[in-house]
Amino acid sequence: MPIATVNPANGETLRRFEALDDAGIEQRLDAAATAYGQYRTTGFTERARLLNQAAGLLDEDQQDIARTMTIEMGKPVKAARAEAAKCAKAMRWYAAHAEELLADQHPSPADVADSGASRAYVHYRPLGPVLAVMPWNFPLWQVVRFAAPALMAGNVGLLKHASNVPQTAMYLEGLFRRAGFPAGCFQSLLVGSGAVEAILRDRRVAAATLTGSEPAGRSVASIAGDEVKHTVLELGGSDPYLVMRSADVARAARTAVTARVQNNGQSCIAAKRFIVHTEVYEEFAERFTVGMSHLTVGDPMQESTDVGPLASEQGRTDLEELVDDAVRQGARALCGGGRPDGLAPELERGWFYAPTVLTGITPAMRIHHEETFGPVASLYRVDGLDEAVALANDSPFGLSSNVWTRDADEARRCVRDLEAGGVFFNGMTASHPALPFGGVKRSGYGRELAGQGIRAFCNATTVWYGPEPVGH
Ligand code: NAP
Repeated sequence: MPIATVNPANGETLRRFEALDDAGIEQRLDAAATAYGQYRTTGFTERARLLNQAAGLLDEDQQDIARTMTIEMGKPVKAARAEAAKCAKAMRWYAAHAEELLADQHPSPADVADSGASRAYVHYRPLGPVLAVMPWNFPLWQVVRFAAPALMAGNVGLLKHASNVPQTAMYLEGLFRRAGFPAGCFQSLLVGSGAVEAILRDRRVAAATLTGSEPAGRSVASIAGDEVKHTVLELGGSDPYLVMRSADVARAARTAVTARVQNNGQSCIAAKRFIVHTEVYEEFAERFTVGMSHLTVGDPMQESTDVGPLASEQGRTDLEELVDDAVRQGARALCGGGRPDGLAPELERGWFYAPTVLTGITPAMRIHHEETFGPVASLYRVDGLDEAVALANDSPFGLSSNVWTRDADEARRCVRDLEAGGVFFNGMTASHPALPFGGVKRSGYGRELAGQGIRAFCNATTVWYGPEPVGH
């Protein structure tokens, strides 16, 4: 895949980049190792100062970086601005909380007395240079939610960003440098995915985090396993959205539209399978379909646009094949089902797809098991909660889940039984710096954000003192 900015709204190649050669990669790995030797000894106050500085610069740059993201991957510019604001917020959150999240943990003296300790505790230290292999769909946020905690913990970052967002990748490197982070603390490696194996195997790289597709995750995890290096994987999702009979159906349907089409439908935590109790099914289906068909599809640079193009031509082809396979086997489109009509002439070569609601889905169809990365919703009818939960769990993925109910017993059963990294009631899944984020099953392992996210790239070091006192 070429490293290039190609505008998804019209297919035009705007800028190409040369991939780093072996010498360039070597120079950057060396810079990371050198920077780590110094940076690891800085204190939380200094790291927080730098990260707060980065947050301030990002706020100043919001308009420009939002336009860059939109041109590179097609998200509506208003969503791109919101993404930049969210990144600044996460940076400030980690700047404020890292010290407390990584404070030494002291077991009670009585608990460790039989180990012979006069004192023992756990101390969190950084691991070293961490390789982050990141996707294009939230090109700032995915990186910042790794970089903010990793840098606050004293690690340094090496970013291999998706090949279609090179300008956003270079912006991030520049942002951390302008904020005052020493050279080598955060670098973007403009390389294709073929270069990842050698970088990951390099002895200077301590660990890796990957957000992306299942095949990419499997490849990185197996190489890291071979090298016995720690990984965090955030992979695909096909989140269920349960609407039970006690739900506020109007709100559930309104929120469902946003939950499905956020980021042009290309979000791992977008709700993708809508599982609705038969008693409220007709009302939900009607409201949801009307909401989906009234969205404004078009130029993502326009403030009024709700849904822009898919990020790549291949992404649209993949989505078309999933929908076509379902329709061939008997699924029915309540709205959409193909490319949208009525686009402005300058957008005709863009990779647009109409917001779509499909019913009549069966397990024989690919769409039942695979992730739909675009504005396509699968709608199912069920007779009760047991059937809803069984259907929700009938997926290789387990990222998050959404449940609309006012019944406390149903809520309790969902928390107990849904196979997912999150259960969001009467709302839609969203990430937040103070809440851990991640999945189970084929959605990956490990957690980002919150305390779990910062400890993920730490060496939890046991410190044990015998009866002999150390230092006076
Ligand atoms: P992708 O093709 O897996 O790409 C993600 C990153 O991995 C890119 O930097 C890509 O580089 C690299 N890559 C691809 N194949 C690789 C390999 N074999 N070895 C090493 N690196 C490799 O995924 P995508 O299409 O960009 O993103 C969509 C997927 O990401 C969806 O499945 C989505 O659900 C998932 N996602 C998950 C989360 C989460 O938090 N769980 C968040 C966002 C997205 P190139 O660009 O150079 O190919």
